[in-house]
Amino acid sequence: MTLADRPKRALFLDRDGVINVDRGYVHRIDHFEFIPGIFELARFVAIALRWPIIVATNQSGIGRGYFDETAYDTLTQWMHERFRQEGAPLTHVYHCPYHPLHGVGAYRVDHPWRKPRPGMFQQAARDYGISLPGSALIGDAITDIQAGDAAGIRFLIRLAQTDMAAAEQAPAHALAVDLGDALRLLQNFSNRLGGE
Ligand SMILES: [Mg+2]
Repeated sequence: MTLADRPKRALFLDRDGVINVDRGYVHRIDHFEFIPGIFELARFVAIALRWPIIVATNQSGIGRGYFDETAYDTLTQWMHERFRQEGAPLTHVYHCPYHPLHGVGAYRVDHPWRKPRPGMFQQAARDYGISLPGSALIGDAITDIQAGDAAGIRFLIRLAQTDMAAAEQAPAHALAVDLGDALRLLQNFSNRLGGE
């Protein structure tokens, strides 16, 4: 296999509970607290692996009317800048503002982008020519794992400080107790790929 034939891999990240502490509908910079280890992990992926880093986040707080797209965009641009400053730029941040029951007006949609559906990952694959079976995902919710599995992502890592038992219903995935642990799992995974 030549270099050009190799699948283009990516790391997919959930946002709340993976990049930042999940306080519920976080939409302000002063409420956004990065989880320790996220920049080290992102630097490994961006610099050592040279994989794109793609965030896929359900943001039904928009659809529910808790905050608007402008507030979301302001926070997201700031988050992009912080990753750039840390030497690990994010390639793209996809978000799904819809909710099938609690969305207001046009936001009340059972949208294919809302995890556990795989739409955001499939869109990223089209946009960036990414091989989903060659890629990895880190999420903190069972729905992240379900969405990644539905998209055909091969290596699924769940951050699980709590609710370890909840994994019963989920597709097979690796458990990490924190982002340092997730980084080690990702290093092992990428080592096993070799020249694949
Ligand atoms: Mg989450």
